[in-house]
Amino acid sequence: QVSVCGVSKSYGTHEVLHDIDLEIEPGEVVALLGPSGSGKSTLLRTINHLESVDGGSILIDGEYIGYVRKGDRLFELREAETLRRRTRVGMVFQNFNLFPHLTALQNITAAPVALQRASKTDADAQARALLKRVGLEGKEQHYPRQLSGGQQQRVAIARALALKPDVLLFDEPTSALDPELVGEVLDVIRELAHGGTTLVIVTHEIGFAREVADRIVFLDAGRIIEQGTPEQVLTNPRHPRTQDFIRKVL
Ligand code: ATP
Ligand code: MG
Repeated sequence: QVSVCGVSKSYGTHEVLHDIDLEIEPGEVVALLGPSGSGKSTLLRTINHLESVDGGSILIDGEYIGYVRKGDRLFELREAETLRRRTRVGMVFQNFNLFPHLTALQNITAAPVALQRASKTDADAQARALLKRVGLEGKEQHYPRQLSGGQQQRVAIARALALKPDVLLFDEPTSALDPELVGEVLDVIRELAHGGTTLVIVTHEIGFAREVADRIVFLDAGRIIEQGTPEQVLTNPRHPRTQDFIRKVL
C-alpha cells in the first residue's frame, strides 16, 4: 500500500507538486495522466525517494523509504538503509536504463545478488523464469544492444520484478518504442495488472489506461484535479482541463 500525504515539491521557486494526496491499495492499478510538465515523473520519483519532498510524507506499507520517524520528527536514513527500503518500489523508465555491459540475465540477477537476497544459483533460476514470463526465453545471454527496444523494456520489467516490489512504477514505458513494439510491452504490463501486482503507470496510451486501470488520476500543474474510474475520467471528465487534454489526445 502506498500513502502519499500532502506532498509538495519545488525546484527553486517553481512548485512542481502541490499538496498531493494519493492512497494506492494493494493490487490496484492507477494510471497517472496529465499534460507535459504537470509533475507526473516527479511524483513517481518521489514515491521511491529518487527525489526528496519539501512537505508531506510518503509511506510504503507504513514505512518511509528515506526517513525514520522518532517522536514527531523525521531523520534521514543512512544510504544503505534507504537503498534497501527502495527495493520495495520497482521502477521502469522510458529509456529502459539497462546496464549495457551486462547480459539480460545479469541485468536481472545483479541487484538480488548484490543485496544478498539470493544465491547466484537461485538468482539465475529466478531470472530465467522471469525472462520466460516476459516472453524472452532464449535471450538470457544477449546484451542490451543485441535486443530490440521492446525486448529491452521487457528485460527492464523482469529486472524490476526480481526484487519482488510491493508496487511497480512505470514512467511512459512505451513512448521510446517504435509503434510495432508497443504491443508486446503493453501485453506484459497487462498480465501484471491482471495478476494482482500494484501498478502506477504514467502513459500516453489512453486506450490502454482505460482498459487496465482501476483508477485514473489526472494531474495538472502539480495538482490532482480529477480522479475516478476510467469511465468517469475519460468518458465524462468534469474538469475543463481534463476535457481539453482528452480531446487533444484521443
Ligand atoms: P512529461 O509528460 O513531459 O514527462 P511530467 O508531467 O513528467 O512531464 P515532470 O518531469 O515531473 O513533468 O516535471 C514537472 C516540472 O518540473 C517541469 O516544469 C519540469 O521542468 C520541472 N523539473 C523536473 N525536474 C526538474 C529538475 N531536476 N530541476 C528543475 N526543474 C525540474
Ligand atoms: Mg515525465
